[in-house]
This record gives sequence, structure tokens and C-alpha cells, in this order.
Amino acid sequence: MKTIIEPFKIKSIEPIIFTTREQREAFIAEAHYNVFLLHADDVLIDLLTDSGTTAMSARQWAGIMNGDEAYAGSRSYYRFENVLKELTGFSYVIPVHQGRAAEKILCSIVGGAGKVIPNNTHFDTTRANIEYSGARAVDLPVREGTQPEVIAPFKGNMDVAALEALIEDVGAENVPCCLLTLTNNSGGGQPVSMKNVRDVRAVCTKHGIPLILDVCRFAENAMFIKMREEGYATTSVRDIAKEMFSYGDGAMMSAKKDGMVNTGGFLALNSGVWAERARTVLIVTEGFPTYGGLARRDLEAMAIGLEEALDEAYLTYRLRSVQYLGERLKAAGVPILEPPGGHAIYLDARRLCDHIAPKDFPGQSIVCALYREAGIRSVEIGSVMFGTTSADGEHHGPAMELVRLAIPRRVYTQSHIDYVIEAIVNVYERRRELRGLRMTYEAPYLRHFTAHFEEL
Ligand SMILES: *Cc1c(COP(=O)(O)O)cnc(C)c1O
Repeated sequence: MKTIIEPFKIKSIEPIIFTTREQREAFIAEAHYNVFLLHADDVLIDLLTDSGTTAMSARQWAGIMNGDEAYAGSRSYYRFENVLKELTGFSYVIPVHQGRAAEKILCSIVGGAGKVIPNNTHFDTTRANIEYSGARAVDLPVREGTQPEVIAPFKGNMDVAALEALIEDVGAENVPCCLLTLTNNSGGGQPVSMKNVRDVRAVCTKHGIPLILDVCRFAENAMFIKMREEGYATTSVRDIAKEMFSYGDGAMMSAKKDGMVNTGGFLALNSGVWAERARTVLIVTEGFPTYGGLARRDLEAMAIGLEEALDEAYLTYRLRSVQYLGERLKAAGVPILEPPGGHAIYLDARRLCDHIAPKDFPGQSIVCALYREAGIRSVEIGSVMFGTTSADGEHHGPAMELVRLAIPRRVYTQSHIDYVIEAIVNVYERRRELRGLRMTYEAPYLRHFTAHFEEL
């Protein structure tokens, strides 16, 4: 059989709400052309993010009912800790309410003025937390990682020579840790090879720099290694994941991704000194170390979700369903970032709207068009998210102008995706009609969440 099917059936359903084009025109204008400001009920297919939008399994819901809500020393915490220690091998496991809480805690331990923290590509909240602490966040993707048309197996890799050069340049004493994001979300959900993890580890060891892995999508990354990297075809995804973890001095995770839950995360460390500092910050800002700002039932759901994410039938379906969307779009001529990533398809807005300059936000224009066309919510990852304007008014954009269509885990069926394909192809055929936007309001950090726009 060549059709890969969903390895589950549906037990519980949630209606989605249809709107007319006239209604959507009004909603998007009211939202200042920023889809983060829409009411979710006015969205038909929500591909804004794969974060916390997972459909939980019956086992996870049963775990929710079994959660032990003790403030301290909850049974659910010990279950969660056991699963994580067994999987990651790290000595200390600190639960947090979501990924950025782990980032905030890590940055309050190691960040600060004069420090430099490299990554293959920093996720937006990671960059924001580093910069908020006064430190500098540096992206070191491999060259092909910023070239949307290039097809390569591990475009998420870090440029190891650039890492060496950066350490030489700023001095190892100013690099408190090196991060490596698996998969590389801002770089297109592209995987990092085991060889690259090993090579980055070697550079870190040589300079005495701790390596902290951002493992939001560790299971998808491990599955890509199994499918693409020599020597791993017959290794289980769990063992591949364990090997990845073995090269880190710690890891942080938003479990809203491969933790298969609606909220949660953790910071895991081998250093007892760092763990103690982290727990001190945790108690002040998040909660007691056996719940970290979560309901204990959430820890129960996470413990089960982390196991389910490693199921190879699930991962086969997951990667295939994202690839299916990419293949269909490509066949229709729509420019996408290739090859398809693990959790999302990224439209290449630079090529799709080559008549709109980066300073006029071509990606945001496509995002608005997809909503108007079919009630689909996507997100711009380009000049809105990462662009800056210098004092002389000149626009500085990132390497790529992308529109991300993130696929929530276990939520949409193939016919939902077929509808999305139709809508994108319609917008693509009328792309010359799209116009740019002007930003009329922006916050000092993470401006994309709350920015306002006007159409040009
Ligand atoms: C989502 C994400 C984060 C932040 O996690 P939140 O749960 O959204 O706070 C950090 N890094 C990566 C790679 C992510 O995808």
C-alpha cells in the first residue's frame, strides 16, 4: 500500500465556523491586517502555529483525570521526571509553563551585557529573551539554510566554521552557552543532522562552552535523521533521540510542539550549580519546582505525549502529511521553501510576490490574502517578524521572506489540506493583484504579535 493514513481514528470532534468573504474583509480590517488580532472563531483552518494546538489522545485525557494536584511532590511530577530522565539522560528536570519560560530562566543565569549566544537560528522568543537580558543573539545557519530553492537533507545545520570564527572573535569567556535548535524552526522547520550535533559538540568541548539543545521538535528531527542520515535507517527514533540528547549539557523544550500538549515545557540540565540557580528563578517567577507554573495534570499529559511523539507510525504520517501539502503546491508552481520541513510548509514570499519590496512586507500581504480567500490563518516569518529600520530610515530585512503554514498535530484531515491547497493556488494565480502594507504601530519586542498595518 502506498497511501500513508492517519494512524488514529476520531473520537471527539469540534465544529469549525464558516464565514463569507465580506465578513472576512471586515474582520481583517478590524484586526489592523494582523492575523494575531483576529478572533479564532472567525478562522476556518488555523495554521497560525503548531504550538499548543495539538489534539490530545484518549490516553492523555485519561492522564489529565489521573493528575495528582498536590502542590509539592505530586505523583504526576515524578512520572514526568522519570520519563524525561530516561529519554534525555539529563540529571535535573525543571518543568515550566512553556518554552519561553525556560529561555527566560536560562538567560537570567547566563545572559547579560557583553555575552554572545550563538544558535543555528534563534527562534523569535529565544532571540527576544537573550536580547532582553542584554546579551547578543547570533544566528549561524549553514549557507543552504538561507536559500529556499536549494534541496538538501539537513538545511537546519549550524555553520561549524562560523561558530569557531565567532568564538575566536568574541572570546570563549563571553560565550556562556551555545544553543542548537532541533528542528530549525525559523530556518524552515529543517532538520539538523546527527553529524552536525556532534561537530557543534566538539567545538563547544574544545572551548569549554556548554551546549544547550532547543528540542521543541526533537521527535521530528530524529525521524528525519532516520530517513536521511547514513547509518540510522534501522535505529529506532527513540535511540536516535537519546543519542541527540547525549551531546547536550542540557535542553529546553516547549512541549506545546513534540510534547503533544496544549501547554508545558521544561529545562533539563546536567550542571547542579545551574539547576540550583534555575530553580531559584523558577520559584520566584513560575512556581514550585515540582509543578513549574503548570497544573500537575499537565505534567501527566506531557509524560504521555512525549512517548506518543516517538511513535514511528505517527511520525511517518506527520512528516508525510506536511510533505503532501508541499508537493501539491510545488506541482502548481507555487514557490515554497524546499524540501518541506517537519511541522510546516513555508511559502517563499520573495519569489511569490517579487513585485512587493521587503520593506512593504510581501509575506504579510500573502497572509492577509489567504485569510480573505478562504479563512485560512498563516503567519509571516520575514520582515514583519525580524526586520528593523535604522535611524536613517533604511529597512533591514532577514535573509528570507516566508509565510509559514504550520500544521497542528493530529487535528486536520487530508480534505482540510486539499482545501488549503486550492486556496493557495487561487491566491497564487492572482498574485499580481496583491499590494504591500505599511506598519503603523509596533511594540519594542516581538512586534509581529501586536503590530498594526494599513494597506498601501
Ligand atoms: C515555540 C518555540 C519556542 C518557544 O516556546 P513557547 O512555548 O512558545 O514559549 C522556542 N524555541 C522554538 C524552536 C520554538 O519552536
